Amino acid sequence: MSLIQARAAVGPLHRPVSQRASAKTLPNVQDMVQRLRPEEPLHCIRPETIGNAARAFIHAFKGDVLYAVKCNPEPAVLRALWAGGVRHFDCASITEVALVRRLFPGAVIHFMHPVKSRAAIREAWGLHGVRDFVLDSESELHKILDEITAPNAARLTAQPGLFVRLALPETGAAINLSKKFGADFMDAAALLRAARPHAGRLGVTFHVGSQCMDPLAWREAMALAGAVIRAAAVPVEIIDVGGGFAVAYPDMDPPPLSAFMAEIDAAFERLNLPGIKLWAEPGRALVAGGGSVVAQVQLRRGNMLYINDGVYGALADAGALKFRFPTRLLRAQPRPAAPDAAFGFFGPSCDSLDVMHGPFILPDDVAEGDWIEIGQIGAYGACLRTAFNGFDRAALAEVHDPAMLKTAGYEIATTRPNQDRGTV
Ligand SMILES: *Cc1c(COP(=O)(O)O)cnc(C)c1O
Repeated sequence: MSLIQARAAVGPLHRPVSQRASAKTLPNVQDMVQRLRPEEPLHCIRPETIGNAARAFIHAFKGDVLYAVKCNPEPAVLRALWAGGVRHFDCASITEVALVRRLFPGAVIHFMHPVKSRAAIREAWGLHGVRDFVLDSESELHKILDEITAPNAARLTAQPGLFVRLALPETGAAINLSKKFGADFMDAAALLRAARPHAGRLGVTFHVGSQCMDPLAWREAMALAGAVIRAAAVPVEIIDVGGGFAVAYPDMDPPPLSAFMAEIDAAFERLNLPGIKLWAEPGRALVAGGGSVVAQVQLRRGNMLYINDGVYGALADAGALKFRFPTRLLRAQPRPAAPDAAFGFFGPSCDSLDVMHGPFILPDDVAEGDWIEIGQIGAYGACLRTAFNGFDRAALAEVHDPAMLKTAGYEIATTRPNQDRGTV
């Protein structure tokens, strides 16, 4: 059936993409499972959830919203974000740049990885019209300037936007990103001064870490950015507050979107730096609720279920990072389910690290042959898949179901009511 596409591990970034909009009437997951009885993982994308999250974030944030493409580069996801109003894309590789340009000729693309290959800078600037680049070292600054002014580079019609990435102290996010990237205070101020004469626009950027539950992290980071700007004593046009906005998981209930925005607004006001604009680069917050995977139980041993997707598939974060995800049982023939119990999963590979302890909550009578829908994996789920051990057959479908968990502040009335929820 045409609503289902095969999905290869490295597919989203490399396969040809169509401009096809989502089908008018999307199926729901329960119906699809009953009809297809999928024996390989079935990835479900919820374009309405993603579009609504984008609309909510754009509405709440007082600046430009750049979607961090690495979080989920699936074309169906990117189209849903575009439909939700996203026009700016934070790309971190030339392949992401090319994908976004192919899909949306009118998109504004920003190259926000602090360490880029020379070829990637050249191609982004010359072929794809990218004008904004991040750096956190003097060596990267020279690399960027070299490549865009080389004799055979595209003619320098405008100066580049240059963004200095600032390292932050530990923030308590689930995933810290300041150990690998970012200039410290004095270096960042020096980089701003060094970049100023070459920059059409100059910015400071940071990332508080992914799945950051504490809005105060932005207050501290913005105060630091402000101090760096004052120390540099050169005009700066943009503060980019990065990504990291937390979403709900079964064991994590973040403050609502408005609480993050209130901190950012207040911090911005305190900075009192007229003429500066804000940008944000959310990834997880826009797409986490928009993706799930339907896996089949191949064996039950006690409360461990051997399922056909795992940490080398779409469930990487359930392994080493021990993320918990919402789950629901789907049966070919729905019948009243037993009371809930806690389960762990083994993935399909022969590797003993392919284990997910959860716990994941499912009816106690879950059995071989049943399907389990695992939700809230739209961020850093399917895009981390590998073909390890040959477990690389999955299908992809766009569905009409609502997110399996709601994150406060991201729900905006859908254009169509979600009447057919497909819950068992
Ligand atoms: C990964 C990343 C993001 C997105 O982070 P989330 O935690 O998914 O919001 C934004 N900016 C940069 C530079 C990143 O590396």
